[in-house]
Amino acid sequence: MRSLRCLRTATTRYTPQYLLVRFSAWPEHAGVRSPRRTFVVLKKKAQPFSHRTSLYARSRATMKYLSEFRNGRLARSLAADIRRRTRERWTIMEICGGQTHSIIRNGIDQLLPSEIELIHGPGCPVCVTPLEVIDRALAIAATPGVMFCSFGDMLRVPGTSGDLFTVKGRGGDVRVVYSPLDAVRLAQQHPNREVVFFGIGFETTAPANAMAVYQARRLGLKNFSMLVSHVLVPPAIEAILNSPASRVQAFLAAGHVCSVMGYWQYPPLAKKYGVPIVITGFEPLDILEGIRRAVIQLELRRAEVENAYARVVTYHGNQPAQKMLAEVFEVTDRAWRGIGVIPRSGWKLRADYRQFDAGARFQMQSITTAEPRLCRSGEVLQGTLKPHQCEAFGKQCTPRTPLGATMVSAEGACAAYYHYGRFAELSPSRPQDRASTT
Ligand code: SF4
Repeated sequence: MRSLRCLRTATTRYTPQYLLVRFSAWPEHAGVRSPRRTFVVLKKKAQPFSHRTSLYARSRATMKYLSEFRNGRLARSLAADIRRRTRERWTIMEICGGQTHSIIRNGIDQLLPSEIELIHGPGCPVCVTPLEVIDRALAIAATPGVMFCSFGDMLRVPGTSGDLFTVKGRGGDVRVVYSPLDAVRLAQQHPNREVVFFGIGFETTAPANAMAVYQARRLGLKNFSMLVSHVLVPPAIEAILNSPASRVQAFLAAGHVCSVMGYWQYPPLAKKYGVPIVITGFEPLDILEGIRRAVIQLELRRAEVENAYARVVTYHGNQPAQKMLAEVFEVTDRAWRGIGVIPRSGWKLRADYRQFDAGARFQMQSITTAEPRLCRSGEVLQGTLKPHQCEAFGKQCTPRTPLGATMVSAEGACAAYYHYGRFAELSPSRPQDRASTT
């Protein structure tokens, strides 16, 4: 805790006013390609660089925002603190697939005492998009004259007959874009084509999608539409807690969702269901601190909402983004893959923007599809089954031959278990199963 307090002091003492933006790469873990990272070199306020500002002083003033939160020594001390405080068995669910990958990649679950079980939640946008929505996307993309735009992670998600790559291979115009506004630009540039954007995801991606629809209306575009399948986190938490099979005693809420929406929706949930909810980031120290705070609450029989990601999240969140969402979308019942319909758990376009609804424009609402019987991704998404407990895991179902979205998605729990070799339950008591977070 003392170490984290130091980090907090450091983040407030230095201000990102200027100075030098550098690109560097640093190794993460064996077998994982090191991405190039951007980091900003900062200096202390009112202490300008001078001829006396040596390399040493610069290195002291460097803030990288990532490596500090991957420090192995601090991670081990946080894990030791968690071990010290744990008296009973507790089950904690991390909501977000990004957190799941960080936990498995860094072996965080193996640093914890055996009394603490981490189970993985439904926070992977690709995974929870129902098969029938994928099939509608495939049907629209295969329609002559359509330019179908999507983020890259949806292209390999299998529908009943192939994926968006299959449609592209058969001559369909399927394009990867990096922003929904790119799709709006394409609609401007190609007035004779129907440009459709695949708008999926949680509260994190929804504001940009809302902005794209808003811009399309402002520009008077008649050839732009969006296939909307947006989902919301708080109703999913409530659905999990209402399930008789649920074993969740505390939640690590997704920090990036809360950066947009704030966390004012969570106190009523914590109070109603008696569960601690800790807003948590994605780096190893963020996650360990989230777990530590959840364990303290559980041991003290408290059920409150705590913000362990204060460098990003505020109580009220991003107000302009919320305003844009309220302008374009309204809450609706939404089907989640493998889970079913959760009341008031998604967004649809408001009546004023209904002309941009691709589902209605291409009359695809009638397409309904059953999930494959072999795939148990619904149980994985609700935390009642670990990926390696699925009979098809690593056999019929691999990232090259995925049966369900939780294996194909970069944030899916099945993909995380496969990529990091979790083919069986590991025992924290076995030295060879223990990970070291460096
Ligand atoms: S391993 Fe494959 S078949 Fe099993 S739940 Fe995961 S995605 Fe579905």
